[in-house]
Amino acid sequence: MPETHVSDCLQQSDEVNSTIIEKVLLRQVSPRDAKWDDRRAESDRVRDLYRGTIYDPLAERIQGCSGRLEFGYDIAQDGIPKLKLRSAFFCRVRTCPVCQWRRSLVWRAKAFQFLPKVVEAYPKHRFIFLTLTVKNCQISDLKETIGKMNKAWIRITKRKQWPAVGWIRSVEVTRGKDDSAHPHFHCLLMVESGYFAGKNYLSQANWTQLWKESMQIAYDPIVNVQAVKPKKNGDQDMLGAILETFKYSIKPSDLIGDNEKEIKENDKEWLIELTSQLHKTRAVATGGILKEYLKDLDNEPEDLIHVNEDGKQEESTGISVIFDWQQRCKHYLMETDE
Ligand SMILES: [Zn+2]
Repeated sequence: MPETHVSDCLQQSDEVNSTIIEKVLLRQVSPRDAKWDDRRAESDRVRDLYRGTIYDPLAERIQGCSGRLEFGYDIAQDGIPKLKLRSAFFCRVRTCPVCQWRRSLVWRAKAFQFLPKVVEAYPKHRFIFLTLTVKNCQISDLKETIGKMNKAWIRITKRKQWPAVGWIRSVEVTRGKDDSAHPHFHCLLMVESGYFAGKNYLSQANWTQLWKESMQIAYDPIVNVQAVKPKKNGDQDMLGAILETFKYSIKPSDLIGDNEKEIKENDKEWLIELTSQLHKTRAVATGGILKEYLKDLDNEPEDLIHVNEDGKQEESTGISVIFDWQQRCKHYLMETDE
């Protein structure tokens, strides 16, 4: 962790006094929570890009997001103190980096819940991680392009070669250097045990052809396919693939541009257009056997609080510690009584 002192980051302001110097950073108390600073600073940046545009109301919502975090302070079994989030307000704006991150943790926790059940019910089945892409499009054509990909997905799943008995699919959009958009699908497919040795096995070339036909395009799209190794040391490989399926739908760096101090017009325009284009599009879809397992989880309201990086849901019994977001120094600082 880079050496960061509160006094350094506040020195530019008039607020430096002995009280503030004694304040403690969240990342000092709990290095595993350092991400809060990074994500919250990105959310500020997204808010700034929305300000004064048609999405001004979103700027206001993001402004109110995760400003105060209340953690329970627990001592873990290994004697190491651990902070567990107890309460916070989340804006739930789709493009808010804090909320995107929390949502990816929720999906991670869901994966931890349903995977053991699937593996128990279908111990011999295997998984494939598939990435389906198309050529970059103009950001103004993103919705239409994703619509075409969704239609192609329906076609591909109806083909007789389609090998999966269950699937999870998420949409990720990355930003091209020329401010184009690159939408692609991350898919986790569940196949029967004989798939890899059988006549239904599909090579990378077969998958490319199948996706090309389903997309009804003239060029060969880039397709990546990987078998998820059967479990030996727990479910780590499968989890890796699942987590890849549920990571950010848009990388924070693509949302905010170069993250320099000034607001760049093209960053603003890209974000505005992205927001309009993604309105009412679905981030994650499921089908077949896996849909059954995720059905209940899908209906639950998302609890963005009681999740952590380990994919575990956790409740704290310890005393409360409060951290407030300090926009100027880009850190969460511990609230003290003075
Ligand atoms: Zn938020």
